[in-house]
Amino acid sequence: MKKILVATAVAAAFGCVQAAEDITVDVAVIGAGGAGLSAAVEATNLGAKVVVIEKMAMVGGNTIRAAGGLNAAGTALQAAKGTKDSVEIAFYDTMKGGHWKNDPELVRTLVSGAASSVEWLLALGGDLRDVGLMAGASFPRTHRPTGGALVGPEVIRTLWTAAKARNIEMRMNTKATKIITDRSGKVTGVKVEGKDGSYTVHAKAVVDAAGGFGGNNDMVASYVPRLKGFATTNHPGATGDGLKLAEKAGAQLIQMEEIQTHPTVVPKVGEMITEAVRGNGAILVNKEGKRFFNELDTRDAVSAAILKQKDAVAYLFFDSDMQKSLKATNKYIKQSYTVKGETIEEVAKAMGVDAAALQASLNTWKEGKAKGKDAFGRANMPRDLDKGPFYAIMVTPAVHHTMGGIKIDSKTQVYNTKGQVIPGLYAAGEITGGVHGGNRLGGNAQADIVTFGRIAGQQAYIYAKQAK
Ligand SMILES: Cc1cc2nc3c(=O)[nH]c(=O)nc-3n(C[C@H](O)[C@H](O)[C@H](O)COP(=O)(O)OP(=O)(O)OC[C@H]3O[C@@H](n4cnc5c(N)ncnc54)[C@H](O)[C@@H]3O)c2cc1C
Repeated sequence: MKKILVATAVAAAFGCVQAAEDITVDVAVIGAGGAGLSAAVEATNLGAKVVVIEKMAMVGGNTIRAAGGLNAAGTALQAAKGTKDSVEIAFYDTMKGGHWKNDPELVRTLVSGAASSVEWLLALGGDLRDVGLMAGASFPRTHRPTGGALVGPEVIRTLWTAAKARNIEMRMNTKATKIITDRSGKVTGVKVEGKDGSYTVHAKAVVDAAGGFGGNNDMVASYVPRLKGFATTNHPGATGDGLKLAEKAGAQLIQMEEIQTHPTVVPKVGEMITEAVRGNGAILVNKEGKRFFNELDTRDAVSAAILKQKDAVAYLFFDSDMQKSLKATNKYIKQSYTVKGETIEEVAKAMGVDAAALQASLNTWKEGKAKGKDAFGRANMPRDLDKGPFYAIMVTPAVHHTMGGIKIDSKTQVYNTKGQVIPGLYAAGEITGGVHGGNRLGGNAQADIVTFGRIAGQQAYIYAKQAK
């Protein structure tokens, strides 16, 4: 109900036109997620006439679901905290996290542009003033709203407000069904299906920002059969349409088998528990009450470790000290994803694990913390985890991010299967491949969508201005 009201408000705010008449713009953007809205705002800033095509009733896509934050190295906010991070270290972390399968040119663009993306969002009125740590990062570089609140709603609120202020036309409930090319292969627009029928958006340039395919299990399993039947953290619109449209227009798809599972998702519900919970100090214990892995290892490694535990589940365990450090946890408590106990005995009973085993795990954790590194190789242990009340959330891995996609370069130009640029076609965000390689680091997708989304908007504007 809430979603319908939000959608109606959004539609009304943008005065959505639904007539099945052709329209002509400079730049057509497919998808009103973070990448699409960043592209639309940037192209409009430069002077382009832009339309955004969104198949769902509401803006936001997977972006609005993002919880943890946006990674950026070398920001003023980090410097104010005395964090000695750098673009070089972020480059290394991202390549290493991606198992060196990433396109280094795209990673270079990502890490060197992310700080400016934070500045851009702050200048648009966003709040990304809290900086925390996420897995695979050498330093705290995850920018998020004050108090560690959810990042995605804030990024979308900021971009949506900016789009509204610029009178950018948004066509909701409107699905892109074809990227149109002329005989030479140049892109000339998009065929769309709105409430009142299909029509053509004639455009000099098209930005395909329709997101990934994590919500389409058939497509996921066609690339990675072992993920058949897996739950997903993705929104229902993450079905890979934009990839199929681009492929039909000649685009090359790369690394499609690189699909990430997120280790900490509430079983059956599909709600993802942000990595910032582990970053701020939570540990994982199995049904025997024992720790079994470095919680801050990469997502693929932590997912694999959980799948080896009894019933393929684990508990995220934290104390009130950690809970108070991260506003995002309020939602988990409110939604009853947590079990709670004033003492270790109480919480162990609620979890159904042996209290003595859980206490022993916590004692070992504290000993490791005192030494600065524990037996699982975790060096960042910010809390003693000894202040009640205590909380635990049962978690299991689910399909989270599709790292493969459209082959682009650092200007977001799309390449065909012969390795040539498709004139007039740009792509940004989760729909692209190569940025994250074999494993995406938490916080890097939000940096990706704003950084490459902005570049796509700039490049589409430049192309449209020059196009006949
Ligand atoms: C639960 C969750 C939590 C996450 N947390 C984080 C985090 O903390 N930090 C981080 O860095 N990353 C996070 N991510 C990943 C990140 O949020 C996404 O990768 C990113 O937001 C994708 O942005 P996008 O703009 O590329 O796509 P989206 O935001 O998914 O937007 C794509 C839009 O295109 C629309 N669309 C699709 N097909 C069509 C069509 N045919 N016609 C018209 N419109 C179409 C979709 O409906 C959607 O609105 C998270 C992801 C999830 C699911």
